[in-house]
Amino acid sequence: MKTAKTYEIEGRVQGVGFRPFVFKIACKYLLKGFVYNRSMGVYAEVEGEEEEIKKFEHELQNDPPPLARIDKIIVNSAPLKNFTDFKILKSEISPFKNTLISPDMSLCDECLEEMRDKNNRRFNYPLINCTNCGPRYSIIKTVPYDRINTSMSVFEMCEECRAEYEDPRNRRYHAQPISCPKCGPKITFVDLENGVKTDIEALEKLAEAIKSGKIAALKGMGGFHIICDAQNSATVKLLREKKRRPSKPFAILMSSIEMAKKYCDITSFEKKALLSRESPIVLVRKREDCTLSSDIAPHTDKLGIFLSYTGLLVRIAELLDRPLIATSANISGEPIITDGKELENKLKDIISSYVDFDREIINFSDDSVVQFTDKGMPIFLRLSRGIAPNSFLPRQNSSKKILSLGAHQKSSIAIYDGKNVILSPYIGDLDSVSSVEAYEKVIENFKRFYDFRPELLVCDIHPNYASSMWARRQNLPIVSVQHHYAHILAVMFEHGIDEEVLGIAWDGTGLGDDRSVWGGEFFVCDMKSYRRVFTFAPFKLLGGEKSVKNIKRIAFSILYGHKNQEGVAKYLDSFSKDERYLLEQSYEKDINASLCHSVGRLFDATAAIILGLENTTYDGESGLMLEALYDKNIKERYEIVINEKREIEYANWFIGMLQDEPRVAASKFINTLSALIVHIVRKQGKKRKVVFGGGVFQNRTLVEKTVELLEGERVEFFFARTISSNDSSIALGQMAYVLNIL
Ligand SMILES: [Zn+2]
Ligand SMILES: [Zn+2]
Repeated sequence: MKTAKTYEIEGRVQGVGFRPFVFKIACKYLLKGFVYNRSMGVYAEVEGEEEEIKKFEHELQNDPPPLARIDKIIVNSAPLKNFTDFKILKSEISPFKNTLISPDMSLCDECLEEMRDKNNRRFNYPLINCTNCGPRYSIIKTVPYDRINTSMSVFEMCEECRAEYEDPRNRRYHAQPISCPKCGPKITFVDLENGVKTDIEALEKLAEAIKSGKIAALKGMGGFHIICDAQNSATVKLLREKKRRPSKPFAILMSSIEMAKKYCDITSFEKKALLSRESPIVLVRKREDCTLSSDIAPHTDKLGIFLSYTGLLVRIAELLDRPLIATSANISGEPIITDGKELENKLKDIISSYVDFDREIINFSDDSVVQFTDKGMPIFLRLSRGIAPNSFLPRQNSSKKILSLGAHQKSSIAIYDGKNVILSPYIGDLDSVSSVEAYEKVIENFKRFYDFRPELLVCDIHPNYASSMWARRQNLPIVSVQHHYAHILAVMFEHGIDEEVLGIAWDGTGLGDDRSVWGGEFFVCDMKSYRRVFTFAPFKLLGGEKSVKNIKRIAFSILYGHKNQEGVAKYLDSFSKDERYLLEQSYEKDINASLCHSVGRLFDATAAIILGLENTTYDGESGLMLEALYDKNIKERYEIVINEKREIEYANWFIGMLQDEPRVAASKFINTLSALIVHIVRKQGKKRKVVFGGGVFQNRTLVEKTVELLEGERVEFFFARTISSNDSSIALGQMAYVLNIL
């Protein structure tokens, strides 16, 4: 019997080839009707035999295009209208914008094949893309996702491209960034040394420069990469000097998984991630015989690698056929640079040439970074290109539109538009004027995308975070949330946990309710409130929060109260007379000595003691160094002592470290932390789920050891899986809180 049905499809269904997919399956089952994009998603009306409509519906639900994500389908019966064909209609223009934007996706296999095919009209054309791959978030100005609303609007399609664009059977049907060598953006090589600019063989010229040991830049999806030869130690050294980046690891672009295997041991989980559509940087173990310059990732046994995800990266990797350093082009801590002129202004002393193209990047994004535990659990260090913006359907709803502003380091924002919670990509640390500008730009872009006007703001309780200060300037009601509670809430929200849990928040810093620095917290909490049940005994942060990078001072502070103990006096003597005087004054008179409970800082103190490290230059550095020393065969640990104030005492661990050799001390330290978690889980975790949050749980070794111990404990435990456990998910935790208390 002939019937008619309507389908309202919501989720990430625009710009991902959804309409052609509906067209294709409608034709397959001989259905008539139409489909179109509207602000809420996709709308389709079909007529045909009931049996065939059933099959259509099954395929619609179960086999959507690779980049699509269906959140909801509403199906209704409709009167027969006796359509004569199936059509894709023009997008509906509506005042309400409410559809999810796809992240940028890596080059698909079909495009790659065409790019390598001498007889294809896009042979060697590096900006090749189709409905299944290519830029999205980076080029979009507003929704709906149509060419006119992207930075491709200024390029007129040639006849051939237009024919593909208009043919529903073509893979490039309504691929908004469609282009070809004839009609697409121009790729330009700019040589800053002699002022030459050319669009002839731009990538070949860039490859020449890199081959000769020069440092160059290449425009990518969400910003520029700085690129140079990873095998040339002199160049790597020069890059470190020029970027004033003494030790933070550089990511390596490998031209293939085979090349990667020559330098790294890659597990099946890691391989899968490297080859995925998201194409993140994956932290893998260096092979013992790795011949790459040790300056690439000093003092760690890991290497961050990725595979080409744009045509430009594919071409440059193939032309050079060697591992390449490919690191975000920026000034340390600032957002990635997206514009050629800005690149010249800011990095002219670092790069000697670059390749640009004239498709504007509207929304910047960095490479995403992930690592895996031995059991394949992902630990995201940065959520950005390929993954963000990331949307969630919350259990709780509110009639208010809400903007949460995140933290200060590794900032990100989240919005609630009345239906979805959307988390922005990682933005950066808000320490510089240009970082704060970039942060404001993301807020403005999100407001425009989603036609979003916040009615309520959520921020951290720290009054001096740039994000909190921004909130206060807006003249809107503000709710503030404690930093570490937000860490736990983010992970609870991610896993849909809505009950009382034991939350373990270990972090770098963050302001506590008592105005001291927290970061070693055990909470019993639900989505509405928390109480702190254990913490680490505070030490004095000598020199205040500003001196957290001087990690030797932390070790001094922890050990000073035990100066009569064996080994301690000798350690304290290693400080210069002047410095020691200064620190003693600060300690004894409580001058500029805020109290600090942070486990992140204990990692620092450990690195200071066992490696003699004075300063850290990037976040997580001490942890990575300790992991490199960790020895699985060492089972010992330091003693767990909890005082009557329910504070964990650790001075004895550090006194022990003065005696132990580095490998033993590092292993015992991590073993002790894991054992401590189990100890407290046994005290507090009975019948409660255990939720982990905070930057410390990005330490792979600590997570692996903790999981190993907890698996024997009959307790359900949760780590961040699809979000990061660092400060970039604070915005999500803040949002979860207000949605629960409104
Ligand atoms: Zn493609
Ligand atoms: Zn064309």
